[in-house]
Amino acid sequence: MKISETISFLDAWAPPSLAEDYDNVGLLVGKKDNPVSKILVSLDATVGVVQEAIDLGCELIVSHHPILFKGLKKLNSQNYVARTVEKAIQNNIGLFALHTNLDAISTGVNFKMAEKLRLQNLKPLRPVAGKLLQLSFFVPLQDKDKVLTAIHLAGAGNIGNYSQCSFSTEGLGRFLPNENSNPAIGIIGNLEEVNEIKINVILPTHLKNKVLSVLFAAHPYEEVAYFITQLENQWQDAGSGMIGNLPEAIGKEQLIELVKEKFNLKVLRFTDSEKSSIQKIALCGGSGFFLLGDAVAQNADAYITSDIKYHEFFDAEGRLMLMDIGHFESEQFTSELIIEKLSNQFPNIAVLLSKTVTNPVFYA
Ligand SMILES: [Zn+2]
Repeated sequence: MKISETISFLDAWAPPSLAEDYDNVGLLVGKKDNPVSKILVSLDATVGVVQEAIDLGCELIVSHHPILFKGLKKLNSQNYVARTVEKAIQNNIGLFALHTNLDAISTGVNFKMAEKLRLQNLKPLRPVAGKLLQLSFFVPLQDKDKVLTAIHLAGAGNIGNYSQCSFSTEGLGRFLPNENSNPAIGIIGNLEEVNEIKINVILPTHLKNKVLSVLFAAHPYEEVAYFITQLENQWQDAGSGMIGNLPEAIGKEQLIELVKEKFNLKVLRFTDSEKSSIQKIALCGGSGFFLLGDAVAQNADAYITSDIKYHEFFDAEGRLMLMDIGHFESEQFTSELIIEKLSNQFPNIAVLLSKTVTNPVFYA
């Protein structure tokens, strides 16, 4: 199998277009035409992880954090980033990263955290906006079902928990085929009128090319009349952080014990809250202080994230328990998630969990 097949699958799961602008996701090192039989999965790609890949005979490392994040202008072993990249290139090992795109999808980093806490009714804490399109097109009445089925299968028409959503109106379509045309209905040089239906559907931006090619293939006309409009709507299936409910309300002490147990923590930092009963939990893997306002606005009883600074803890103002469980700790199950996904899709490829400890932080 080629690395490109792995990439196509991972890109369909966690679309790169959902990554933040500052991010750097995808194949960072290596050739996509290279063969792959073993994949090593790790939260971070470091020199130690590359060595592990060499020892195990892996041709590809899939990590959450991209080793190439800021500009790298020299490759002279000057720092750990350069040394990691150099070692990967020297040993023909590919480095692939899914970072904020894996944070944004509803089955990504935050889903895995929520699953560990058995949260229910999950939603993005801050749904992404500007990533949806409206597609309107015109089709002869008798071809409506065939075309709708095709574009729904390609991913158009999903709204929250509802699929195959569309809205139609009937009308009269008109066209004049010229001498170079090959009309499915009508005759060259004759103005034609056809009973058509106008269908409107919503679709994620990253599926635009796929849905259009399926539309063109399923539609009977040589030229398909359609409009695409960019929407400002929030997308309920993707965004930053996640919010959901514990199966039942618990006390503050119980929540602390639950989080410590599920995330294997020796220690966590938190603020006290005026609420005594905890059920609605917001969370965000990695550095999530920027979502504190969203957690408060949605009336969360606790917000679990990492990288909170001293003065930022004050901002909770007793409205919820603000918990810092550590960056590595919050994302520790991400490798497990990627392995589950890859192993299911590629049963003939060995997908291995890295045993290298990449967390640079120790607690004493
Ligand atoms: Zn992170």
